[in-house]
Amino acid sequence: MGDQAIGVDVGGTKIAALRVDRDGSILARETVPTPAEDAEATLGEIASVAVRLLSPEVVAIGVGAAGMVEAGTGTLRYAPNLAWRDLPVAERITQALGLPCHVDNDANVAAWGEHLFGAGRGYEHMLLVTVGTGIGGGIVSGGRLFHGAHGFAAEIGHVIVEPDGPVCGCGNRGCWEQVAAGRAIDRLGREAVRDHPRSLVAALADGDPERVDGRVVTEAAQRGDDVAARILAEVGRRLGEGIAGLVNILDPEVVVVGGGAALAGDVLLEPARAAFRDAVEAPDHRPEVPILAAELGNDAGAVGAAALALEELGG
Ligand SMILES: [Zn+2]
Repeated sequence: MGDQAIGVDVGGTKIAALRVDRDGSILARETVPTPAEDAEATLGEIASVAVRLLSPEVVAIGVGAAGMVEAGTGTLRYAPNLAWRDLPVAERITQALGLPCHVDNDANVAAWGEHLFGAGRGYEHMLLVTVGTGIGGGIVSGGRLFHGAHGFAAEIGHVIVEPDGPVCGCGNRGCWEQVAAGRAIDRLGREAVRDHPRSLVAALADGDPERVDGRVVTEAAQRGDDVAARILAEVGRRLGEGIAGLVNILDPEVVVVGGGAALAGDVLLEPARAAFRDAVEAPDHRPEVPILAAELGNDAGAVGAAALALEELGG
């Protein structure tokens, strides 16, 4: 009886795959670029990267993919920011490798990874918020991953919070992820370079608004730049307000924040925590809900996918 699985995290820019044992230890890894504009090629790359990691101990494949994954069939139905529609991922990977394949949303598998092996260890009720370019979510409720009726639960980035706000990849205006994640930091960062040419954030971007991204803003803020700190305070506030709404709905014990926001750390998370405390219902009449940085970094999704695949076997 083998006890290893391959976990694959399929994002819009790269496919990261790991061979993992039951304890979540990483035994081998491969990363390749995602041919995101070509669905067939994407399926082919997932299969070939998994094949390269195979060993006789591998008994299952787990895949986390950026988009809405239908439970049961493991079909990626829709990706708001990518061209993928109706990709039969589980079926194709099982055909290619002859192994059972479990496919889930990328933030769901990351939530499962953090729940088992990361910042969510020991909590039965956990909300994961992944803050990168956009926002993804994963919900662990009663020690189990919550999928909803079809597998589409926890698409938390696409709640409209600003009806006249920026256009989102899903087609709506003012989704939460447009004001509380990487695109908002980029947008405010570009404005800051134009409005505050003497700031450190402008200097780090060589004065070019197009060269500003979350990394530049975060570095400037961590080095004490007020302009950059104000950007992260504003985006962090929107993040914390949204988390408060989700905590009102879900009542978790802990909120784990992953993605690039976890790397930014307290320059983003402290404003989020403050806004959360202001906005959550009855903060003085409920246990404190810690908002923690994720611990597994970019490996959370693949590790969680592998663990889910092993659990699907009944192990
Ligand atoms: Zn949206």
